[in-house]
Amino acid sequence: MTTRRSFLRQGLLAAGGVLIPSSSFANFILSGNKKVIVIGAGFSGLAAACKFDPRKFDVTVLERQNSIGGRVFSHTMKNDLIIELGAEWVGNSHQRILTLCDEMKLKLDTNQMDTHILYNGIYSPPKKSHFSKEWDAKFDQLLEDYRNFSDEDKELLDKMDWWRYLVNNGCKGRDLDLRELFDSTDFGESIRQVSANSALSEYFENITEEGRKNHTNNQMDQKIVGGNRRLADKLSERLGGKRILLNHTVTRIEQGDKVKVFCANGKVFEADKVICTLPTFALKKIDWKPGLPENKIEALNELQYCRINKHAMLFDKRFWKAENFDMVTDQLPHYFYHATQKQPGTSGVLISYSIGDKAAVIANQSHEVNFKSIQETLRPVFGDVKPNLLQQENYYWGNDDRSKGAYALYGPGQWFRIKPILKEPFLHTHFAGEHLADWQGFMEGAIMSGEEAAGEII
Ligand SMILES: Cc1cc2nc3c(=O)[nH]c(=O)nc-3n(C[C@H](O)[C@H](O)[C@H](O)COP(=O)(O)OP(=O)(O)OC[C@H]3O[C@@H](n4cnc5c(N)ncnc54)[C@H](O)[C@@H]3O)c2cc1C
Repeated sequence: MTTRRSFLRQGLLAAGGVLIPSSSFANFILSGNKKVIVIGAGFSGLAAACKFDPRKFDVTVLERQNSIGGRVFSHTMKNDLIIELGAEWVGNSHQRILTLCDEMKLKLDTNQMDTHILYNGIYSPPKKSHFSKEWDAKFDQLLEDYRNFSDEDKELLDKMDWWRYLVNNGCKGRDLDLRELFDSTDFGESIRQVSANSALSEYFENITEEGRKNHTNNQMDQKIVGGNRRLADKLSERLGGKRILLNHTVTRIEQGDKVKVFCANGKVFEADKVICTLPTFALKKIDWKPGLPENKIEALNELQYCRINKHAMLFDKRFWKAENFDMVTDQLPHYFYHATQKQPGTSGVLISYSIGDKAAVIANQSHEVNFKSIQETLRPVFGDVKPNLLQQENYYWGNDDRSKGAYALYGPGQWFRIKPILKEPFLHTHFAGEHLADWQGFMEGAIMSGEEAAGEII
């Protein structure tokens, strides 16, 4: 038994490119190497594929979209401003992704924020802590106590939701409201739906000793210059682009002595092993022969993904002034942050980042209606910002056809119970992806779980 994170411390021939019509299936593999199919070209699939020595393995990555990167979704506004509609921050504790960036000569820029708040109509500029002194002291104590939690304590804690745990520990009034606003931004849903162990372990593991003293966390620290997607491009270069087949949606997997992987475009591939990195919603749409074990199907049905909406607004000037501006609010637009920090020019992009029910409401409105609520929320701090608006774009992850959410949300009682079931290999198929990682919900977790799955085969 471990915490969510402590695992971290313990520890083209095949690409085929060669296409086989499903009607006349034939073994297209000519070399003696082991054949591996990786499903999904997100960070998990790309990292998994890169682990295999091409002298011993023929690896093919099958990707449904016509681009790689998955939920890392860098996007350009106004031709030159790069924003992230998916994964944004690289944490200082995320050692694996930092190492890969270093190896691939990708530069990272600081992307830390100084948090303003707008709560109950009152604006507060950044300060060391927005919480009461009493609650800060209590929270430090809770984190300190967690250090000594036994495995049994953690399992018990996992059965409770984070809101209940905070209330039981005396968090109330403004402090409780602020915890809801801050922590729901991290988990993508209300803290009433988050396991107390997930939250406490996340804050315990993610916050450095120094950060803990200063009440800053260190998972929102950096960003890859030129867009996080550049790491996907570099991983693909490392692989040799030919091994990734785009526009290949896997629809059926047949496992016998070997594995046959069928795609919607009629192509069929054979392999010795498969690594499936799909989010649970996409994974469940595949027709598995034989069928997935009952307990895996139940676990797939149980796991929810959080709902995040990103509404990006390009303004002709950065009226928020501080490059590291962000603001948590108790209004529908929820959380604002400057998404083009350190990028040149006078114009800039502010993203309104909403979670849970708020995200679902926003996703159903027109740009006009959404902007009205943003305009009203920002008015007490910046006056009318409408004249500065040049362009807006919206992406709601709750409707994304592959994941129906941004990242997995382990609710009370799920982490220790269903994660091992989801991770369990099935015949020749191994599973990976953000939802199966100790750094769950992060690019770091996606990469590490992919590499781990490759390790199971190697
Ligand atoms: C809004 C948002 C904010 C986030 N913020 C952060 C952050 O700040 N920091 C951070 O580290 N992480 C963040 N994340 C999480 C991060 O994006 C994920 O953890 C990571 O990208 C998941 O990678 P993956 O490879 O596990 O899955 P994916 O990236 O989902 O990869 C799976 C791939 O499989 C493909 N696929 C689906 N179905 C099929 C099929 N049938 N056949 C073939 N291919 C298929 C998909 O198209 C996709 O490319 C955020 C995510 C979102 C959405």
